[in-house]
Amino acid sequence: MIRKREFLSKILLMVAIATVSITITHAVIAAVSAPTMSADEALKLLLDGNQRFVAGKLEHPNQTPERRAEVAKGQHPFASVLACSDSRTPPEIIFDRGLGDIFTVRVAGNVADKVVIESLDYSVKHLGVRLMMVLGHRRCGAVIAAVAGHEEEGDVGPMLSELRPAVEASKGMAGDPVENAVRENVKLVMKNLATSEELSAMVKSGELKVVGGIYDLDTGTIEMLKN
Ligand SMILES: [Zn+2]
Repeated sequence: MIRKREFLSKILLMVAIATVSITITHAVIAAVSAPTMSADEALKLLLDGNQRFVAGKLEHPNQTPERRAEVAKGQHPFASVLACSDSRTPPEIIFDRGLGDIFTVRVAGNVADKVVIESLDYSVKHLGVRLMMVLGHRRCGAVIAAVAGHEEEGDVGPMLSELRPAVEASKGMAGDPVENAVRENVKLVMKNLATSEELSAMVKSGELKVVGGIYDLDTGTIEMLKN
């Protein structure tokens, strides 16, 4: 009888813990900021802007003093972009956007260490972003260095360490090793984003999208990668 009671109380305790954790999970998801717009709408805005950039028909939206005053009160960007620090790949220019539009993280080789991931998570949880884009680019100097140095022994810096998995993954592929590593890097970084409990739930439900693209330095176009 005592054993049965102990068993029952254990079950009740487990149910109580499960209920509390479900409630907490819901509370965490509910705490995520309302969307600025849907992921699909956001992607369309970015790609439309890129088409204007490619065609040389820039509109320079949201770059007026009025827009500056508007966003000074608070920001609600519609997309996050993780791009390379390369001076030829500024997201606001290649997507023809302005102030308060894109939450941008730029780092050599568009790698995602913990601080980068935390920054992008913030844009979803607190600023209303529902589209994250990882943007690699052709002939990336960081990737060139990683490909050239991957056989070397010894200590490498944090950036090359972050790029090493992409170099390894693309080893032996047909075609240009740098171009292949650029693509693999974007794919691997995409996998590392939105992995927290609340963000991965949003990805599963389709509310949040993580997309990848490769920017062409010569034409200005962006090739979207298939997931
Ligand atoms: Zn680069």
